[in-house]
Amino acid sequence: MAEIAANLEEIRSRIRTACERAGRDPAEVELLAVSKTFPAAAVREAAEAGQRVFAESRLQELEAKISDCPVEIDWHFIGSVQRNKVRKILAHSRIIHAVDSLRLAAFIVQVAADAGVFPTVFLQVNIGAEETKGGFSDEGLRADFEALLALPRLEIAGLMCIPPDEGNAEAARQWFRKLRKLRDGLETEFSVRLPGLSMGMSGDFETAIEEGATHVRVGSAIFGKRSYRVDGELG
Ligand SMILES: *Cc1c(COP(=O)(O)O)cnc(C)c1O
Repeated sequence: MAEIAANLEEIRSRIRTACERAGRDPAEVELLAVSKTFPAAAVREAAEAGQRVFAESRLQELEAKISDCPVEIDWHFIGSVQRNKVRKILAHSRIIHAVDSLRLAAFIVQVAADAGVFPTVFLQVNIGAEETKGGFSDEGLRADFEALLALPRLEIAGLMCIPPDEGNAEAARQWFRKLRKLRDGLETEFSVRLPGLSMGMSGDFETAIEEGATHVRVGSAIFGKRSYRVDGELG
């Protein structure tokens, strides 16, 4: 696993190059190391190589790793959020990336009020309108946006998507661009700032950065191939 440090270095360098191409400051792009299915030892190794932000998609796995990893790690939650796990997800992660309905957002706020915390979330958009994926539709998000903004305590960092898997980074570009335009439209229409775009994974993070990503979620390009699928998640 000595490769992890080398992989991280390569990813960081590719992020810088993509930023240069797009005329962006690399400081605007946060690299989330997606450690799901990999052992705590892999997280520790990445942390030793300077990585501070990690992402998990299942609460159980997150909890197991937290107890086995350096305390200064900034954990993000990128999986689908089950209501009965909201309290713990809020306790253990700084940002939730996949809030996919007004109902869930309202429930998170209710739990957060009770726990005395102020959650930061991304709103997940089903950008390719795929049957198999969760998230707001474009229209649904516009329709619910006023109500989302009215929720107290909730910091909406921006929008998140997992585009249709068409097997290459260039094909993903249209979806990343669509998410950015949706974000730009909401900012204008509702006079708010939605600075974050959580988009781009191992196969397409450079394209996502060219299209404005602020949070790229990279797993296999850092840790290697995953050997099993996570239920209800990407493989
Ligand atoms: C697993 C996962 C990733 C990372 O995917 P890789 O292709 O391994 O980089 C990113 N985002 C989400 C939501 C995931 O579930």
